[in-house]
Amino acid sequence: IKILAIETSCDETSAAVVVDGLEVLSNIISSQVDLHRKFGGVVPEVASRKHLELINHVIQEALAQAGLKFDDLDGVAVTQGPGLVGALLVGVAAAKAIAFALEIPLIAVNHLEGHIYANFLVRPDLPFPLICLVVSGGHTDLVLIRHHGDYQLLGSTRDDAAGEAFDKVARVLELGYPGGPAIERLAREGNEEAIDFPRAHLEGFDFSFSGLKTAVLQYLNRLRQKGEKVNLADVAASFQKAVVDVLVDKTLQAARTYDCPAIILAGGVAANGRLRSALVSRARREGLEVFYPPPVLCTDNAAMIGCAAYYKFLRGDLAPLTLNAVPGLPLVAP
Ligand code: ATP
Ligand code: MG
Ligand code: FE
Repeated sequence: IKILAIETSCDETSAAVVVDGLEVLSNIISSQVDLHRKFGGVVPEVASRKHLELINHVIQEALAQAGLKFDDLDGVAVTQGPGLVGALLVGVAAAKAIAFALEIPLIAVNHLEGHIYANFLVRPDLPFPLICLVVSGGHTDLVLIRHHGDYQLLGSTRDDAAGEAFDKVARVLELGYPGGPAIERLAREGNEEAIDFPRAHLEGFDFSFSGLKTAVLQYLNRLRQKGEKVNLADVAASFQKAVVDVLVDKTLQAARTYDCPAIILAGGVAANGRLRSALVSRARREGLEVFYPPPVLCTDNAAMIGCAAYYKFLRGDLAPLTLNAVPGLPLVAP
């Protein structure tokens, strides 16, 4: 089964061809970060216009790299939500047009399900039940996955998402956008024990990162008022460690509670090397396995959408041509 997948939920225009949810024939990712950098974040209206400009080229390129023609496709998949409505609409309209013209199935994919399935792209034999920590620019969710497509939301952030915290702290440290990779880089030169930033341990499996963000801001203001020099690398390293500690604690707690032998990471923050290494080493002590996708498949890309779509296709879960974008689409229907 050859699926053309399209992802335009935020600021990456991406198209991929994935065979049987496993073989990535192409995965074109046209990032708009340079365009949005001068604004310090994604400007929704600018993103939609850019998607419109790029979408056909990116699709053509995905087919060309895969060595395929439109007629070779067995299905077309697209991110339906969550995301920016104007951005999502560009992908949804393109996918519907292709499905209609070629008379092939249309598959609507939840963006977070896509992030989760980046793991199955690399390891189709992952053992259920799984605990998945979804950590991205807009989400911090702990999810129990009993089977393909069977999700239970155990907890999520009450305020900022983990990636959002990285981006906001990077901004006050004047490291630019996107913040995650910049903080990780700077943190390598710092001492992560230097500053004892607060860790919010809420009851259950919920998270909170806005207090940590405020603590970093207050720390910087205090030192600057006193005219003391700030060691930015120490701040980056200590902040990163505070985020990682809480994420790892809760994820291991969830794996224990639900008797899951394996943990997977998903979303842009899953690319963070410190999070990966901390989770692996602490999980190993408890005899738990940890899996994560390569960095390029952690951040937004269409290959992960093509993988999730394959399993939905197998379940006969197809979308009608009246499909619409849903900016607040939840992973699990409430
Ligand atoms: P969502 O998936 O919730 O809709 P999104 O698509 O904008 O949001 P992703 O593309 O999954 O988010 O991830 C982007 C986020 O990941 C950004 O906040 C970015 O700072 C963060 N990120 C990327 N790489 C790293 C890294 N190495 N360390 C920490 N954070 C990172
Ligand atoms: Mg992005
Ligand atoms: Fe994402």
